[in-house]
Amino acid sequence: SNVPETPEAPEANDAYGLKGGSSKELRYDGQTVVVTGAGGGLGKAYSLFFGSRGANVVVNDLGGSFKGEGQSGKAADAVVDEIKKAGGKAVANYDSVENGDKIIETAIKAFGSVHILINNAGILRDISFKNMTDQDWDLITKVHITGSYKCARAAWPHFRKQKYGRVINTASAAGLFGSFGQCNYSAAKLAMVGFTETLAKEGLKYNIMANVIAPIAASRMTETVMPPDVLENLKPDWVVPLVAVLVHSSNSEETGAIFEVGGGHMAKLRWERAKGALCKADSTYTPGSILAKWDQVNDFSQPEHPTGVANFMELLEAAQKEPSNPK
Ligand code: NAD
Repeated sequence: SNVPETPEAPEANDAYGLKGGSSKELRYDGQTVVVTGAGGGLGKAYSLFFGSRGANVVVNDLGGSFKGEGQSGKAADAVVDEIKKAGGKAVANYDSVENGDKIIETAIKAFGSVHILINNAGILRDISFKNMTDQDWDLITKVHITGSYKCARAAWPHFRKQKYGRVINTASAAGLFGSFGQCNYSAAKLAMVGFTETLAKEGLKYNIMANVIAPIAASRMTETVMPPDVLENLKPDWVVPLVAVLVHSSNSEETGAIFEVGGGHMAKLRWERAKGALCKADSTYTPGSILAKWDQVNDFSQPEHPTGVANFMELLEAAQKEPSNPK
């Protein structure tokens, strides 16, 4: 089977209270997991995993091409069959994520609940910015941004009511760093970061944890842009364990975080702010005065790692108190 081994490594620290490390198998019995875009690639890997660990799985897939053309129930059905054959519980849903309410409705009708949402569905419309059409832009933002929003929006009242919810949104290195020919996709993928950060803040008091991953995996999306020997080391199954940990009930702390994950490696990302400069806010505060302090604006030797606007306000207050910075 291509279902991964227990997600936790023996030497794992106990950040999640998972004492016993590898001897303890993370399970999801009685929980309902909605995986969007689950007919292939990463979504299929998540679905098979959760199906094998006791969860009720809603396998959503529109079944179109990687450019977002056409549709079919075949992809989702095949994954549901595979889960059922292995003794798991699953139902298919063929709606576009743009109709997220229908996907969540499938979960409620079939299983009476939704606990975990994995916003994974996605398409590409790669084209240089010079040649990009409104259609290329709109289709990408609809599937990635509106789709993730619609699914989360429909699941949210259930999460709040039961004081439990876990969300994974899917970003991309293209969104974090930019990528030639992917202006539409980059914009939509970085949107997942802001979206998740806010869900994390609003969800905290209801035990709703929301995190973002930027995965790298062999799938139909990457098979044309990466060589076979590289793809061989990027199995979608190897993204699963991190997601498994983040959406498990034992994760009561990790929320609003960004992880890059692929090929068995994972690492958290965060913002870094340079020391910065405070200019005198009077008539001497000119563009030239900023140029004079440009080194400080760019000085990362004493970095900060802000997590909210409050950090900036504190910084401003402290800087204004310094005698060298008169009011
Ligand atoms: P994939 O093409 O195998 O999977 C995406 C799935 O989403 C497909 O099965 C597709 O039918 C489905 N889908 C597309 N539009 C849909 C819609 N409107 N409604 C419902 N389902 C829809 O590709 P993948 O690599 O497994 O991608 C999964 C996610 O990971 C995507 O969000 C992708 O952008 C992201 N991602 C992947 C990589 C990578 O290296 N594979 C890198 C960065 C980000």
